[in-house]
Amino acid sequence: MKWHEMRLEDVMKSTNSDREAGLSSKEAEKRIQKHGYNELQEAEKPSAFLVFLAQFKDFMVLVLLAATLVSGLLGEYIDAIAIIAIVIINGVLGFFQERKAEKSLDALKELSAPQVIALRDGEWMKIPSKQLVPGDIVKFSSGDRIGADLRIISAKSLEIEESALTGESVPAEKETKPIAGDNVGLGDLTNMAFMGTLVTRGSGVGIVIGTGMKTAMGQIADLLQNAETMETPLQRRLEQLGKILIVVALLLTVLVVVVGVLNGHELYEMFLAGVSLAVAAIPEGLPAIVTVALSLGVQRMIKQKSIVRKLPAVETLGCASVICSDKTGTLTQNKMTVTHIWSGEKTWQVSGTGYDPHGEFFDEERKVDARNNKTLQQILTFGLLCNSANLVEKDGNFHLDGDPTEGALLTAAMKAGFRKEALLKSFTIVEEFPFDSTRKMMSVVVQDKAGKRFVVVKGAPDVLLTVSTEVLWKERKEGFSQQYKDKAKKAIETLAEQALRTIAVAFKPLKDNENIRSSFEAERDLIFVGLQGMIDPPRPEVALAVKECKDAGIKTVMITGDHVITAEAIAKQLKILPSNGGRVIDGPTLQELSVEELEEIVDDVYVFARVSPEHKLKIVKALQKRGHIVAMTGDGVNDAPAIKAADIGISMGITGTDVAKEASSLVLVDDNFATIKSAIKEGRNIYENIRKFIRYLLASNVGEILVMLFAMLLGLPLPLVPIQILWVNLVTDGLPAMALGLDQPEGDLMKRKPRHPKEGVFARGLGWKVVSRGFLIGIATLAAFMIVYYRDPNNLIYAQTIAFATLVLAQLIHVFDCRSEKSIFERNPFENMYLIFAVISSFLLMLIVIYFEPVQPIFHTVAIEPRDWLLVVGFSAIPTFLLAGSLLTRKSK
Ligand code: ATP
Repeated sequence: MKWHEMRLEDVMKSTNSDREAGLSSKEAEKRIQKHGYNELQEAEKPSAFLVFLAQFKDFMVLVLLAATLVSGLLGEYIDAIAIIAIVIINGVLGFFQERKAEKSLDALKELSAPQVIALRDGEWMKIPSKQLVPGDIVKFSSGDRIGADLRIISAKSLEIEESALTGESVPAEKETKPIAGDNVGLGDLTNMAFMGTLVTRGSGVGIVIGTGMKTAMGQIADLLQNAETMETPLQRRLEQLGKILIVVALLLTVLVVVVGVLNGHELYEMFLAGVSLAVAAIPEGLPAIVTVALSLGVQRMIKQKSIVRKLPAVETLGCASVICSDKTGTLTQNKMTVTHIWSGEKTWQVSGTGYDPHGEFFDEERKVDARNNKTLQQILTFGLLCNSANLVEKDGNFHLDGDPTEGALLTAAMKAGFRKEALLKSFTIVEEFPFDSTRKMMSVVVQDKAGKRFVVVKGAPDVLLTVSTEVLWKERKEGFSQQYKDKAKKAIETLAEQALRTIAVAFKPLKDNENIRSSFEAERDLIFVGLQGMIDPPRPEVALAVKECKDAGIKTVMITGDHVITAEAIAKQLKILPSNGGRVIDGPTLQELSVEELEEIVDDVYVFARVSPEHKLKIVKALQKRGHIVAMTGDGVNDAPAIKAADIGISMGITGTDVAKEASSLVLVDDNFATIKSAIKEGRNIYENIRKFIRYLLASNVGEILVMLFAMLLGLPLPLVPIQILWVNLVTDGLPAMALGLDQPEGDLMKRKPRHPKEGVFARGLGWKVVSRGFLIGIATLAAFMIVYYRDPNNLIYAQTIAFATLVLAQLIHVFDCRSEKSIFERNPFENMYLIFAVISSFLLMLIVIYFEPVQPIFHTVAIEPRDWLLVVGFSAIPTFLLAGSLLTRKSK
């Protein structure tokens, strides 16, 4: 018998599972051994060996190897072996860099892997979907992606979109009844849910019957290898730049070779020097270093609680000029506590904090017993009946399982001594229409023991005002006249002005023959009962984060489903609304505006209140039309289009649905606004660090080429031999450049305006810095070489050693200059210990090459006399300090 034909009891038996406790973790462990992880097999990756070989497929490296081979055949064994060794070391480094980049990308994927809520050892817990096994009981609700193939065992208004499997784009309604026949098409299996499909409405519980490749999705898994690009715009731009640089480097190298030969150098000698120079000057490692810098940055961001799902977002983060943030849970703590209850002409206060169900009710200063007050009793029990949340007590602490708004209502009712379990003994919930942010209401149909049914609705008070026709006023039912409505409105506003979130409750009795088939039928012609007002304190760190964003030229906009006045009160507390005004717009007003009209005013708007998720898209579009780079947060299914359309879509790690997460490029692990600020800071830093090492590498390369070119133009001997050039490329350009990728941000990083997204890598004077510093490094090296060479023209090898030392040292000093956009004096050189370590190691390696006799013949070096170090140090300091000095004098003027 197939799963869909079985009765639920038989499903439980066949899977050897327990409806109440689920599987034990031990049993789950065993089943993983047996069935494997719940994952689809991926396409095979190229082997490590192939990745290693790929390091040598670069054209110039091949030419160098060929040239080396020739020189080897001509008897220059030592040179040949040394060059090959360096090429191999370079390849190994490239290989590890690439591996590291790939590993961190894999780790990223792992982090953003989907999670599910499963029943294990009698408790609902979040586990990675990968760990699901047959027999696991899972629950899911609107916005979740189904983690494995399930037989549904309970369903509330459940609809699932299965287009990936069936091609049917209309979501399928689901239920639990067995279906007869063993040959039923996937689309008709209404009591099953399949891995990878999407819950679009309602909620349900299911039992896992198939995992991994043994799911309907597994059978078509090959079609689903998603090939989403992880390449960032900067990486693409650098690839193009790389191509230009190759051409430039080659042309210059050819020039060096031609001029050298014309000035009497041997062709063979010049050829090897030229090829080495080309290999050194072409920044072939740039893309890999950029990937490593990006992924290291991503690792740092994870530590700060933000997970990057799409690598390009790291760059875009640095350009963000507006953050549109949800209020509840992101700007505020989402820890709700009812503090006020209103009905008729009366307001009661409620004491107590958080979800601890201990507290008192007060009428003015006078304590009241809520159970003896009919109105209070009604408001509290309605809040309890129309409620899916539960409070769980553990070690004397109360934890909320469910929505915080509902948790607050539950806690308030419990403070009066009402208990859900007790209430559900007298009343049965026969139908439930879950809350959604567009209706802003939730309703249930309740039946009492006598068979009488009634509807209870709770939701946004202004919405309930419009769907209520009567009101309970001082325990009497009255027509909901304008006069009463105005009074209720006034009460809502008074609560909202205190930054309270308000929920209204209403009900209606049903006639015996009256059927409720939809939320629309349930939520009309109601009797309005009263309000509960709850605090949701701002997160303590948010006010500072908003300010920091403002200093960084980033505007914070609050978007909320909450009441306009509540939103405004909190926006004022957090200083999102500027003291000199700033507009607040509500949903209905927004609805009326076209994108163009909104565009006109959007720069003045700081709060959008009572909006539906659908409105967010309009806001994103208007802001983008104004030229903004927009970060937009969201958590629900309906938020997904706006998250996708935003330049940086942000979803919530805790409350976010799978749909929102999948649409987003950044996930906030802690749902916290302050985390967005940290991510932006990190995004800016990563970009600046990339600029730093591009600046360093290219200036170094320019220096290397120019020293050779000028020497040839002046008819001098080669100032550097090929192996020295390759050594510089490997050691000096390698370690310090990597260390720059790990550099700390400059002090004013979050005081600068956001970067323009179209800004080129060489913007803000970087191009000039590369050329000017490179030029000076070349000139200084050449000058040191010439002085020593003319002092003793017979000792060329000594002059070359001096040139080698000057070039290396000049670069090792210059690297510190690259840490600042302004001047080397702006920064403490000991801040970045990686860099200190890299520079010291490069320096020591240089000393070994110069002073360690066994390697001297390999590197064509001789020991430098102590007095000549003055010369080396002096000339190598010139390129950095000459310009830094001139900058200082300019500044002091
Ligand atoms: P944000 O968009 O900042 O997260 P929000 O959470 O207040 O704001 P919604 O969740 O869309 O936005 O809620 C809108 C309104 O609906 C609330 O102000 C409240 O009055 C009402 N509401 C919220 N949750 C529920 C619920 N579970 N049941 C009934 N009504 C609710």
